[in-house]
Amino acid sequence: MKKRHPLIYILPLFITLIVILFTLKNQPVKDARLALSTLRFAALGTCAQIQVRCQNPTAGQQAVTAARDKIAELETLLSTYRDDSELSRVNREAAATPVPVSPVTIHLIEQALAYSERTRGAFDITVPPLVEIWKTAARNDRLPDPCSIAAALSRTGFQAVKLQPEGTVSFARSGIQLNVNAIAKGYIVDAALEELRRPGIQAALVEIGGEIGCFGENKPGIPWTIGIQDPFSPDNNDQTSQQPLWSLELKDCAIATSGNYRRYLTIDGKKYSHIIDPRTGYPVKNAPSVTVIAANTTEADALATAVSVLGVAAGIALIESFPQAEVLLVTGSANHPELHTSSGWHNYRFQEVKPQ
Ligand code: AMP
Ligand code: MG
Repeated sequence: MKKRHPLIYILPLFITLIVILFTLKNQPVKDARLALSTLRFAALGTCAQIQVRCQNPTAGQQAVTAARDKIAELETLLSTYRDDSELSRVNREAAATPVPVSPVTIHLIEQALAYSERTRGAFDITVPPLVEIWKTAARNDRLPDPCSIAAALSRTGFQAVKLQPEGTVSFARSGIQLNVNAIAKGYIVDAALEELRRPGIQAALVEIGGEIGCFGENKPGIPWTIGIQDPFSPDNNDQTSQQPLWSLELKDCAIATSGNYRRYLTIDGKKYSHIIDPRTGYPVKNAPSVTVIAANTTEADALATAVSVLGVAAGIALIESFPQAEVLLVTGSANHPELHTSSGWHNYRFQEVKPQ
């Protein structure tokens, strides 16, 4: 399959959650001894940032570098945009023979399969044949015919992915392909955050393309503030726009957003989501924006995609079955946005941002 240059996927542009760590300029810094080390860079075809608060700036900088290296290492293993990644090798060979992979790749696939089970297939990393059908349809500006969708569906199904105890991956039939785009950013955020849990580091935040993990507080006594975009804003076409409509205060937390409003395909003038319902083969229509808070960013990322597929009622029911997870879905239209939340969402400080 022809690979596109990774830069084409630079989607700072399309990220569904715009992170603005409001600097809260008017707030006093209660502990001036905490130095802030920050790094912004490109990773996984999008924008990443690491922020660390530490008494020792050198130690803070070393931790930031270690976290950035961890992100690069995992990207090398898991990207399907690189022919030399472990995942690309799995996709080429696993239908013929079990492919040995690193414990990280096994662990991520294991987790992805567990979310497929928990979501009854709404989350499924074997979606690539369907993703390709819809990308081709957008290129040709013509809806795919139902037969080709049925054919692609027959080449999907997480049950066909087998993990062996000796650390190999195989596919039960040919045609199966994996893409971990819906969970890898969250997984890599968690791994990078682990690198930052070092003595002396009071607080840290890692963000990749809108998926965020953090521990501690932004400043002593002041939580991290995350911005959530209005999915209906006309500014969404302005790829530099970063004005959030809502803000959410978090500490020691993980959050991810999936949405249709910046990443979409256009066919015959109509927008289609990049998230596919693996049960039908068609792009989802239910939720322009889904934000999930969870126990870790891997979980937030996977669940945000799954809830996008399931829609309001089934999505909230799914989230209620995860004790540490909460969800906000935004549906409706520009003039009438409708907010739907799980029962514990109100425990977080969530408010509309007044235009300045
Ligand atoms: P996210 O932005 O985390 O919701 O991930 C969406 C990306 O994951 C898409 O661009 C596809 O590559 C892939 N994907 C689409 N639909 C699904 C699905 N139902 N389950 C898992 N991955 C999906
Ligand atoms: Mg996701």
